[in-house]
Amino acid sequence: MNPPDVFDSAARLRAAGLRVTDSRRAVVEALMERPHASAEELFGIVARTIPGTSLQSVYNALGDFVDAGLARRIEPAGRPGLFELRVDDNHHHLICSECGAVQDVDCVVGDAPCLTPSDAHGYAVKAAEVTFWGVCPSCAAAAADEPGDRREATARVPAAS
Ligand SMILES: [Zn+2]
Ligand SMILES: [Zn+2]
Repeated sequence: MNPPDVFDSAARLRAAGLRVTDSRRAVVEALMERPHASAEELFGIVARTIPGTSLQSVYNALGDFVDAGLARRIEPAGRPGLFELRVDDNHHHLICSECGAVQDVDCVVGDAPCLTPSDAHGYAVKAAEVTFWGVCPSCAAAAADEPGDRREATARVPAAS
């Protein structure tokens, strides 16, 4: 089988064995536009092209995509689940603890599990999902621009004239 045309949402759906519908296509296209988006963010994009769509239908489509191997769901601690179409490698993520920006990080090994626990306690380890938490360059730059207590700085209100 030839790899699907990655720029064609219908081809991606067919390659995953899913029926092609306008709303599924819109969700795939939203994922192409915004990788690592939450269902709510994707709903916001889909609603622009399909006004009658519901958040629940976006959730349903995403669930079907994950089951079919078309999309991957990542669940960073304390954040909503995020979805992406990059499923065919064992890549990891860098997440900014300030603004939530997500960056893909290539897996050095490429196949799961790329990390093995120091003691597997008899488990057959299938995958290792690595999330690197840090501060992204723009948040680091913004913090450098505002010396002093950042929380105090953001709480500052413009002086009334
Ligand atoms: Zn950031
Ligand atoms: Zn990713």
